[in-house]
Amino acid sequence: MEKLEKIYEGKAKILHKTSDPDLLIQYFKDDASAFNGKKKGTIVDKGVMNNHISSRIFEYLEENGVKTHFVKSLNDREMLVKNLEIIPVEVVLRNVAAGGLCKRLGIEEGRIFDEQPVMEFFYKSDPLGDPMINECHVDVFGWATKEEVEILKSAGLRVNKLMVEFFKERKIRLVDFKLEFGRHKGEVLLGDEISPDGCRLWDWETNEKMDKDRFRFDLGRVEEKYQQVYDLICAE
Ligand code: UDP
Repeated sequence: MEKLEKIYEGKAKILHKTSDPDLLIQYFKDDASAFNGKKKGTIVDKGVMNNHISSRIFEYLEENGVKTHFVKSLNDREMLVKNLEIIPVEVVLRNVAAGGLCKRLGIEEGRIFDEQPVMEFFYKSDPLGDPMINECHVDVFGWATKEEVEILKSAGLRVNKLMVEFFKERKIRLVDFKLEFGRHKGEVLLGDEISPDGCRLWDWETNEKMDKDRFRFDLGRVEEKYQQVYDLICAE
């Protein structure tokens, strides 16, 4: 598998073409950003930890019947993935009130949704700051078909259920997280990454934050908490 030119560089990852047009190499950087790119910094070895955490979670989801773009881990910072046509809709699942939901709706941080998770859609657009949207926007503006939206919803709920269990076994509460999907040979696959960059993860006993909120709000010990998540997931 030959690594060819860069085709995309985002805030935390780089995508390279390979000699196989169907496959890309996803490289994980240490760069961190928050608040739509307004805050920037570095989390030492984040790329290595997120690559391994993400690989392990994609493997777990695949073992449980979720279709993802993950093919295999290549080295400390790179994974081989299927080349997706990204659907520009971010799917957020929430099990506990935090972040944007508290700000928008005045809900107290930490309220647990034990009946069902809250699912939200956002339009993936950096210039617009990823505004919140609903199914009607997705349909009218043609970002995904009605059938695809049903897949996003059912896959989102299934991934949430599996990930809540996965993290609970490791004494971590999955507060909320963001998923991205894409089209590949007539199927909708889960893409992007699943790591403490795009999930809120709290210590089950103490509610201590173990995710990018430590960077967002300068809570300190960022690397230490990413490392703890890495150890709990990857050192089995
Ligand atoms: N999230 C993300 N990328 C985004 C927006 C949100 O990974 O562009 C994740 C975020 O880390 C959190 C969840 O989605 O785990 C919900 O985020 P929220 O809507 O509360 O936004 P925030 O306040 O974090 O910007």
